[in-house]
Amino acid sequence: MAKLIDGKAIGKAIREEVRKEVEILKEKEGRVPCLGVILVGEDPASQTYVRMKEKACDQAGFVSRTYRLSGDTTQEELIKMVNKLNSDNEIHGILVQLPLPQGLDEKEVLNTIFPEKDVDGFHPVNVGRLMSGDPVFVPCTPRGVIELLDREGVEIKGKRAIVVGRSNIVGKPAAILLLQRHATVTICHSRTQDLPGEVRRADIVVAAVGRPEMVKGDWIKEGAIVIDVGVNRVDDKLVGDVDFSAARERAGAITPVPGGVGPMTIAMLLQNTLEACKYAGK
Ligand code: NDP
Repeated sequence: MAKLIDGKAIGKAIREEVRKEVEILKEKEGRVPCLGVILVGEDPASQTYVRMKEKACDQAGFVSRTYRLSGDTTQEELIKMVNKLNSDNEIHGILVQLPLPQGLDEKEVLNTIFPEKDVDGFHPVNVGRLMSGDPVFVPCTPRGVIELLDREGVEIKGKRAIVVGRSNIVGKPAAILLLQRHATVTICHSRTQDLPGEVRRADIVVAAVGRPEMVKGDWIKEGAIVIDVGVNRVDDKLVGDVDFSAARERAGAITPVPGGVGPMTIAMLLQNTLEACKYAGK
């Protein structure tokens, strides 16, 4: 039976480390990290995520400012808001909650955020820095995946890692990070021909697909480390992209859903915002 990787506990420990650093920063320099969040529209899931981020900021001793814009906000109004936050020296990190309502150009909005305030790590400058091995802000979820592996003491170097999913926010950056840590990385996607065969070879499996329990237990190599990024709602229950109970029989360690990668994403957002604040003070 695989060891459970407790993302909730690890995320909590990181949040506590961040809180302590904030106390020191406040004491020594009189500065406190501030996250500006822009939320457009009424999407219930986005509203919940924003509330969670506000709460996490509060607990870490950050200031958070949320700008709630109506669903009929125009592209120009949204860009204006981003620029307002860009030029506000009291705001260190900017986050635009995604997805944006239809009709708004997400790419243009994200590209408008100053790279030095882009705590989600989605700006092309930050993507380029990550690719070239000189990352500044790394997207929170993939950063959380690596942090989980590190804090569990998993050796990445030389291991065969597979990432199922190639999105810009999870799959691709997770694969690049694993590569930078000297894993031999395979990236799989919807056109991969023998997904079970690819997964069976892997020592580290990162699943970021968005399909409930599609990675089957018997695909998992004995003793492999399984990081399940997926969050899927099935019959009012959250399940991951990995068939957890079957995979647990074979894996060496595995993240649960919920309570695995999810709590790490917010912890990494705090970490990125703290770093943005430190950077602004230099
Ligand atoms: P996307 O929908 O952007 O990407 C999904 C990826 O999975 C695509 O690359 C797609 O391939 C691939 N895929 C789809 N079907 C298959 C298949 N049958 N076989 C192999 N690959 C397939 O999703 P995200 O990356 O944004 O999110 C992935 C999951 O992670 C979701 O469940 C999401 O909710 C969750 N998530 C969790 C977070 C957290 O904090 N825990 C944060 C962000 C996401 P192709 O490119 O060919 O279409």
